[in-house]
Amino acid sequence: MSRTRGLHNLQKTDDELQIVSRRLKEIAAALGESDQVTQARKHATDAEEHLAKCRTQARDLDLEVGGVIQRIETNEQRLYSGRVTNPKELANLQEDSVSLKRWREKKEEDLLEALVGEEDAEKTLSGAQSNLGQIIARWEADQEDLVAERSQLETQQEELLQQRGSLIASIDPEDIGIYQALRQRKGGRAVVVVENGICEGCRMPPPTSQVQQAGTGETLVFCNNCGRILHLI
Ligand SMILES: [Zn+2]
Repeated sequence: MSRTRGLHNLQKTDDELQIVSRRLKEIAAALGESDQVTQARKHATDAEEHLAKCRTQARDLDLEVGGVIQRIETNEQRLYSGRVTNPKELANLQEDSVSLKRWREKKEEDLLEALVGEEDAEKTLSGAQSNLGQIIARWEADQEDLVAERSQLETQQEELLQQRGSLIASIDPEDIGIYQALRQRKGGRAVVVVENGICEGCRMPPPTSQVQQAGTGETLVFCNNCGRILHLI
């Protein structure tokens, strides 16, 4: 393998390694519970809490209505028992009866409203739960895909690292030093192909003498314009 071909292959391998490692990072970030799942779970929990509140409220009102009915009965038993004869006391009992009945009406309206609220809360909860179920199913499928992709990328990464190891072993350490320094300075591109007389790094035509020299692949020729190593395929 010529000097520049070795470096060109090294660059291709490094480029691929970079792509693989970027994707692996993305996958690592995407694995785990997504915001969408967290949000859907929160909606379902909120809906559950709301329903529990509605149920408590309805049960309390039901007990209150029961209590008022009981008091109305007791009051009326006294009123119509014939045992109370004092007109003022009778008038008081009558008055109590009226106000208790009004109270019962009010509480029964509240109870009805609470029952409607409970029904709405049940519907909201069931909607939130089914939405959560769908989101989790989709998320699980995505996670499976990501895990499969990760495993494939890890294999690819291992192969590329092996390939890189053999390339490094076959290249002059001094050239590797030049390559690495250029790669850092030139946005990751140290070796560029000259195609139809044009340097693919800067899109400028290097002088013919440079191109000819680069064509041998045995000396490192740097583009006059962008400073990268020129390689002819
Ligand atoms: Zn150039």
